[in-house]
Amino acid sequence: MTGTLYVVATPIGNMGDISARAIEVLTAVDLIAAEDTRHSGRLLGHFQITTPLVAYHDHGAEAQGERIFAALDAGKDVALISDAGTPLVSDPGYRLVRSARLKAYKVVPLPGACAAITALSAAGLPSDRFCFEGFLPAKQSQRRKALEGLLTETRTLIFYEAPHRIVATLDDLCEVFGAAREVTLARELSKTYETILSGSLGELVLQVSSDPNQQKGEMVLVVRGFDGVVESAQAMEEQRVLSLLLADLPVKQAATLAAKITGGQRNALYKMALALKQDSQAGA
Ligand code: SAM
Repeated sequence: MTGTLYVVATPIGNMGDISARAIEVLTAVDLIAAEDTRHSGRLLGHFQITTPLVAYHDHGAEAQGERIFAALDAGKDVALISDAGTPLVSDPGYRLVRSARLKAYKVVPLPGACAAITALSAAGLPSDRFCFEGFLPAKQSQRRKALEGLLTETRTLIFYEAPHRIVATLDDLCEVFGAAREVTLARELSKTYETILSGSLGELVLQVSSDPNQQKGEMVLVVRGFDGVVESAQAMEEQRVLSLLLADLPVKQAATLAAKITGGQRNALYKMALALKQDSQAGA
């Protein structure tokens, strides 16, 4: 019989957040596949777990995957962990878990900490529908493009961000989504300097850029979704042009033309056009 692949969430800061079941499984398995064996060695040391560790990354995953599958084939149980939180969530593991499922190995997930969900649970923003966007591109032009594509996303948006980019990203969010959009910045969750700031994008740009302490540590941004009101100059122009075109043209054509006229993104304009059309029909 083949072994089981356990996908085990570990703490995102506070060691007390590990589950009793995670300790039990990490102690009992034959092998632990970790993103960084030195980092995970410290976690395991804290809980006096002596299970052997092997490195696993998604890149170059073929060879590393082979070692893990060889262990599973030999009937050994393997646990996958990442440096912090839930594996596969902006962390390695996707290729391994996908292969394991395609090859019909048993995959057992152990729920636990995840920074995105922890931030959402305290943000005070709509949590009935949300989308996790992971890290935005590091380059400003690509980041702006990505944000423009999300301008009319109505679900609450969750981003991971690095401390050295937080001011630039807040600036871009403010520019693209408008200064009035609500945002929560959740920093150092479950750690000593845990800080959760909420306000408008305009307020947070000022607060974070003027306080170097708010630019430190690990952070999650939770941004309210689009509610039909656009604020930035570019977005206002896009909405103005679209509204005019929608009076005479079908949605797709209006979005294509508006993209050509304003230089905006066709997909985003298409979504905005649908929202505007819905609004006008609801108001009719
Ligand atoms: N797999 C992890 C999870 O389940 O949340 C995420 C790993 S990702 C490589 C690391 C990013 O998650 C950080 O850059 C930060 O954006 C976010 N993060 C992780 N721990 C955090 C914490 N304690 N407080 C705030 N954000 C955190």
